[in-house]
Amino acid sequence: MAEQFDVVVIGAGPAGYHAAIRAAQLGLKTACIDAALGKDGKPALGGTCLRVGCIPSKALLDSSRQYWNMGHIFDQHGISFNDAKMDVSKMVGRKDAIVKQFTGGIAQLFKANKVTAYYGFGQLQAGNIVTVKQHDGSEVELKGTNVIIAAGSDSIELPFAKFDGDAIVDNVGGLDFTEVPKRLAVIGAGVIGLELGSVWKRLGSEVTILEALPEFLAAADAEVAKVAAREFKKQGLEIKLGAKVSKTEITGKKTKEVVVTYTDGEGEKTLTVDKLLVAVGRRAATKGLLADGTGVKVNERGQIEVDDHCHTGVDGVWAVGDCVRGPMLAHKGFEEGVAVAELIAGLPGHVNFDTIPWVIYTEPELAWVGKTEAQLKAEGIPYKAGSFPFAANGRAVAMIEPAGFVKVLAHAETDRVLGMHLVGANVSELVHEGVLTMEFSGSADDLARICHAHPSLSEVIHDAAMAVGKRAIHKAN
Ligand SMILES: Cc1cc2nc3c(=O)[nH]c(=O)nc-3n(C[C@H](O)[C@H](O)[C@H](O)COP(=O)(O)OP(=O)(O)OC[C@H]3O[C@@H](n4cnc5c(N)ncnc54)[C@H](O)[C@@H]3O)c2cc1C
Repeated sequence: MAEQFDVVVIGAGPAGYHAAIRAAQLGLKTACIDAALGKDGKPALGGTCLRVGCIPSKALLDSSRQYWNMGHIFDQHGISFNDAKMDVSKMVGRKDAIVKQFTGGIAQLFKANKVTAYYGFGQLQAGNIVTVKQHDGSEVELKGTNVIIAAGSDSIELPFAKFDGDAIVDNVGGLDFTEVPKRLAVIGAGVIGLELGSVWKRLGSEVTILEALPEFLAAADAEVAKVAAREFKKQGLEIKLGAKVSKTEITGKKTKEVVVTYTDGEGEKTLTVDKLLVAVGRRAATKGLLADGTGVKVNERGQIEVDDHCHTGVDGVWAVGDCVRGPMLAHKGFEEGVAVAELIAGLPGHVNFDTIPWVIYTEPELAWVGKTEAQLKAEGIPYKAGSFPFAANGRAVAMIEPAGFVKVLAHAETDRVLGMHLVGANVSELVHEGVLTMEFSGSADDLARICHAHPSLSEVIHDAAMAVGKRAIHKAN
């Protein structure tokens, strides 16, 4: 007999564990199923984000940044030293310890909130039944008055660059190299390619990023992308645009090499590297998830079809996070998970897709919220812009972080903030001033009239907001 729950969640990534914990907080009897195992072969909750995504990548970005600063920045502070050493296995070990701490933390949160965890692969059957093939080979059956699918996503594999877990890898392998590859190629200049490319570049790899599209970071504001491209070039990160990879071949027996064939504007070329990281995007992880007859629809991209409230159209079946439409971002999944749990409990759950921030944790960082100038132009929305450079901000210069700027876009008539675009130091934190202002329907003038501490990086936002009204104090208007 199936065990009955108010809510059964499939997947304990950011979207699933938020949904499960919030549902349990609201008094609903909740189960959450996850199939993933950690590096130690034991169940590890937290999904892509905690195991092989957001958190481990930020751990390595931080370690590699410290190393880079040692060789490139410390001297400017008057600090020098002899005999600096790098220990990659210690660096990766630190990352693994952080992963273990946080994945274990989800298991504890489940216990504290009385969420029942099941470790194994869940499949939705007709009638809101979920069968779970557990890791010990046994099978259990759960019935949910509501089922929330939060199955997440997997890396896309290219047919001509199959992962071998060694020479050709995805993010999982790219976070676990045991030594710094002398030459690393990355296919895809998106968020993951740029972040992991930066990690290994800072540690000493020759990194070449091959991007099929002719434009760099097309989703970002064009000026932000231009500044980022200039800074990445200064760091020696080679980014080849319009470079379409058609073939890869692993050669060498003892020491493997990968020969990558690509075509750009000048014709066919080859590049020989020690490791190839494929970062061409992610696909909803819906394989084997749905038995026949559930009625849940999957679109041509493999995503589960949902309405604006994450409902699948099948009574009591919802889907959230990377396995549905919208940006593949952990915090988008958090919000959807909480909103669905609240809707199930009869509360007004809601996600504002217009104020989801985007961040790329490179050096400099890129961040934005709302519309770009190109989008506003295309939609015929009249706007005014104000921007301010970090190079004119005392704190940024004191920190030797002068690159980048902040741009505030506001409606030409109402002054309401429509977008904020940032490139520079700590903009992953600063972007939230834009998110808050937009959530509260604030204007550029509101931002300009809010007292900002001096000296702080956030003053760049203040100055940019003042520049919208052509009254910036620290630059000519
Ligand atoms: C290298 C990298 C860096 C990233 N950095 C960031 C970042 O800085 N910020 C950000 O916002 N996003 C980042 N992301 C994206 C982020 O990780 C995802 O958007 C997020 O994890 C999606 O959450 P989710 O809960 O929808 O799915 P997932 O995190 O993928 O979790 C889904 C879970 O469901 C389990 N599962 C799937 N199917 C089944 C099944 N049938 N039965 C049982 N269990 C199942 C999986 O094992 C997995 O644990 C990054 C991704 C990568 C790869």
